[in-house]
Amino acid sequence: MPLPALFLFLAACSTTTDSGDTAGTDTAADPGADSSLLGSCGGEVDDGVPEPFASWFLCSDLTVDGGSLKSHSTSLPPHPSPYYDPDNALWVEFDEQGGDRFQNPNELSEQDMNLTIPLDPIAKGLTITTAMVDEEAGTNTEEYRGRFQGLGLDGTALFTGVAAPGDAISEEERTFDQYEGHPTNEGVYHHHGANPSALMVLEHLGETTSTTPGSGTVEMFGIMCDGTVVLGCNELDGASVSASALDAQGGHVGDIDSPDGESWFEDRYHVHACSALGRHLTPEIQYYEGTCG
Ligand SMILES: [Zn+2]
Ligand SMILES: [Zn+2]
Repeated sequence: MPLPALFLFLAACSTTTDSGDTAGTDTAADPGADSSLLGSCGGEVDDGVPEPFASWFLCSDLTVDGGSLKSHSTSLPPHPSPYYDPDNALWVEFDEQGGDRFQNPNELSEQDMNLTIPLDPIAKGLTITTAMVDEEAGTNTEEYRGRFQGLGLDGTALFTGVAAPGDAISEEERTFDQYEGHPTNEGVYHHHGANPSALMVLEHLGETTSTTPGSGTVEMFGIMCDGTVVLGCNELDGASVSASALDAQGGHVGDIDSPDGESWFEDRYHVHACSALGRHLTPEIQYYEGTCG
């Protein structure tokens, strides 16, 4: 059953993709007003979609089918970016951040992004070691096979914690915009780790007052296609995390309870994308079975 939010979402999408001729660059959106964009960014969520997906994964159409969550999204970021078409109302100038960053030549565009994520994933039985996590694609048979391998809370794509073949992720990160995302040469806007965009969703929902990764009271970035959850520096219920308890990609198995103490995932492998814990990237090694498209 379509929800009213879907129509608001579609209206917002057509506005952000087509309204360039009415928006001058002198009215570029104020990053401080970003969360208002999320108010009209709600995909269609079917009955039966469990938490946290139903409440926390905005901007995606979600349904449950045969033990899996199916998502569809456009990967259009609901915030300003220098990677929008300069005629778009959400276009802003690239922030070089003192010369550390430079803009890549790509322009983001609306995508048809679909993922199937198991609700009860089956572990492959891996112990993830430093040797397996080298931030290079194609060096281990247990790696995620593709690049678009996860869904962010804001409906944008999560890529794995590796660069395109031949590139280094540390160099690619220099092309991130102020929301720690960038587009591929096919226009797919995506994140490789901790980012303010997902935290904007949590701010919009009243779960955190900070959108700076590492400073949020509640931090969750998204979920990978095999069922691996991507959290921030703490457990969702506020419990602290010890770096010594984590594997080489910042992961471990444990229950994930909501900030209100509701059980959301039991014995679930998840990574903590958190610089203070040693790694801010999405996972590289696929912990659970599945082909992930
Ligand atoms: Zn990338
Ligand atoms: Zn944890």
